[in-house]
Order: sequence, then structure tokens, then C-alpha cells
Amino acid sequence: MQTIIHDQFPIRSPKDFLVFGSPPIEMDEIEEVVASMTSGWLGTGPKVAKFEEDFKSYKEADYAVAVNSCTAAIHLGILATGIKPGDEVITTPLTFCATVNAIIHAGATPVLADVNPVTMNIDPERVAAKITDKTKVILPVHFAGRPCDMDALSALVVDHDLKMIEDCAHAIETEYKGRKAGTFGDFGSFSFYVTKNITTGEGGMILARQQSAAARIKTLALHGMSKDAWKRFGDDGYKHYYVEECGYKYNMMDLQAAIGIHQLARVETYWRKRQAIWQRYLEAFSDLPIGLPASPEANTRHGYHLFTILVDEEKAGISRDNFLNAMTAHNIGVGVHYLSIPEHPYYQKTFGWKPEDYPQAMRIGRQTVSLPLSPKLTDKDVEDVILAVKQIFK
Ligand SMILES: *Cc1c(COP(=O)(O)O)cnc(C)c1O
Repeated sequence: MQTIIHDQFPIRSPKDFLVFGSPPIEMDEIEEVVASMTSGWLGTGPKVAKFEEDFKSYKEADYAVAVNSCTAAIHLGILATGIKPGDEVITTPLTFCATVNAIIHAGATPVLADVNPVTMNIDPERVAAKITDKTKVILPVHFAGRPCDMDALSALVVDHDLKMIEDCAHAIETEYKGRKAGTFGDFGSFSFYVTKNITTGEGGMILARQQSAAARIKTLALHGMSKDAWKRFGDDGYKHYYVEECGYKYNMMDLQAAIGIHQLARVETYWRKRQAIWQRYLEAFSDLPIGLPASPEANTRHGYHLFTILVDEEKAGISRDNFLNAMTAHNIGVGVHYLSIPEHPYYQKTFGWKPEDYPQAMRIGRQTVSLPLSPKLTDKDVEDVILAVKQIFK
């Protein structure tokens, strides 16, 4: 049985298409961007410094360096661990390709450890089984905003003398036993891509625990130029800069930070909105033949970045891909987070990975659908999503 809705009235009209992950942009950030433009200082400058300060204090972290993406943040974090070619970094197969690509960019070898089927986070027992003499870094992803089992992962880091980089692209607001995600590891990396919990258009941040590591990352993010090179065009005299190593072009612009400063000021307001939508979905879908996200574990704070349902064709009577098409036919945008990493041809060719070797991530990747959860959604938008989902599974 395939429930396709061509002969039914779509819940929304095409001109009202609900774009998945569309962020709320408010007047404060619009005015701040305009102020940056009229000031003439568009590139890395005082607004980036303020955004770093604000983010650091929100996260109760020691050091924060703004960059132009989370991919850049992970790349620099791995480099700053002192990794060498052939060293191994263990991460999850249920993540965005950027996590794995950044490991490869840094010259290291990615190794996958399957996820826990309930939390969808990397399983510490699977990580332990993958540790070898070559393992240098564990790179957990707090999937959908749910914190990983940080006690177990931190114990592995200590026992095997490893480093840890947390991929917090979903997890700005996430906490584990009262401590903020991104402050457990040597580094925590964050994304301000358009669909993330707060946005700068494109952008990222890296948290560090040591001053020397933060300074190295700052240097690497701007061609390897000596500290505060951006001040060289300021008004207190010409300053020479010196290239200390061959770095990258990963700096954030003031134009981006102008958006981020005001988005960050609303991070908790947005979190509460997403939490309310999350609860509404849970109630509305409780009697449907689909998998729903597990409740947050005790003593943790979920970031509510993604609301993911599982569509098992045998139970639901419709395949995941047909469900995606049916939602789109209702003019509601949906997402898939994620086809497991070993489904992609590049990794199959390069590392010989097979989806079946990571069965939990494979199953989730083939059944999962992310429903709209942006704080921009109106009550009517949320009710439209609910109506569409109920109609498809009816
Ligand atoms: C979005 C995302 C990234 C990459 O973030 P960018 O800022 O786009 O580079 C990395 N990891 C995960 C889990 C993500 O969702």
C-alpha cells in the first residue's frame, strides 16, 4: 500500500512551501549588518571579538575562536591535537559528511564506531573495540542535540591517553550532568550554518581549554599569520605580521558576527520554542506506527536540534522515501539526517566501508526523517506538519 496524495488536496499551497530549517532573522541582526556595512569594516574585527566573548561566556568555556564553518573548526581542532599521517580518529557513521571529511583534510584516517539504537549517539563500547595503537582522537557528535555518554567517552580518553574533539554542530544548548557540551573535549566545534540552532549564514566556533591551543588555532585560521594580524590595518601604526606556519583561510567576518551576536542573545528563547514544538509533535504522533525520539536522559539537557521520526515500511505501510515525497507534495520541506556515512561511494571506494558493517546507523539512515523544528514556525505551521503526517499514515 502506498499512500500518495496526488488526488488529495495538499495541506499547504505551493506558494506557502514550508522550507526545512529556515531560520528566524530579526531586526537587531539586520541593523547590525547594515551598521557593519556603513562602518566599512566588513572583515574580521571587533564584532568577531565580541561574538567570541559572548559565545565563550554562554558556554562557560576557557577560549573561543570564531571561524567560517564547523568543518573548519573540526579540521583545525584535529590539527591542533598534533595528529600525524596514519593516526586514527574514531567517529560516528551517523553524521554529516563534514565530520569525516575534516578528519581526512587533517591527514588522519577516519575509523567508524556504530551508534546506540536508542540515543543514536556513538556507542562507547563500539569505540573501545576500535581503539588501536594508532588511535589518537575520539570525535563524538551530539546527534540531534542529545549529549553523548560523556562519562564513558572521557574514561576512554583518559585510559588510552587520547584527545577528544566534540562535534557540537547540533548542540549549542546541550548539557551533560550540568556541564556544557563542547567543554569536555580538548576542543568543541560549533556550526552557525543556516539550518543550525543559531545562524550567521555560514560560520563556526571552536572552544579550547588551553591558551596555547586557542592561539595556534587562531593563527592557523588566518594563513598562519602571527596573532592579531587583522589589527594591521588599524589606526595605531602599521604592524608587520609574520607567517609562522602554512595556515588556512578560515576566519569569520564581522558581517557574520553581526548576525551571530544577536542570534546568540536569543539562543534560549529559540531553544524553548523548539522544545515546545518537540512536545507538541510527541503528543500528536504518539499513536502513529512510527518511531519517535527517545526522551532526554536524566541529568542532561537536549539541544532539540532535530525531531527525527523512523519510518519502517513494514510497520508504517509506506517507505521512508515515499513518505519524504508525500510530505513534499504537501508543500512541507523535510530532511534526512543522515544516510549513514558508509552509504556514500567515496568512502566505500577509499576505505572499503560497507553500510551493513554499521547496522544501527544503516537502519536509522534508511528510516529516518527530520520534521521542521525551526523556532520560526508559527502555530499554524506546526499544525500543518501534524495534519500532513497524520494524513499520510492514516
Ligand atoms: C552542519 C554540520 C557540520 C558542518 O557544519 P558547517 O558549519 O556547515 O561546516 C558538521 N557536523 C555536523 C554533525 C553537522 O550537522
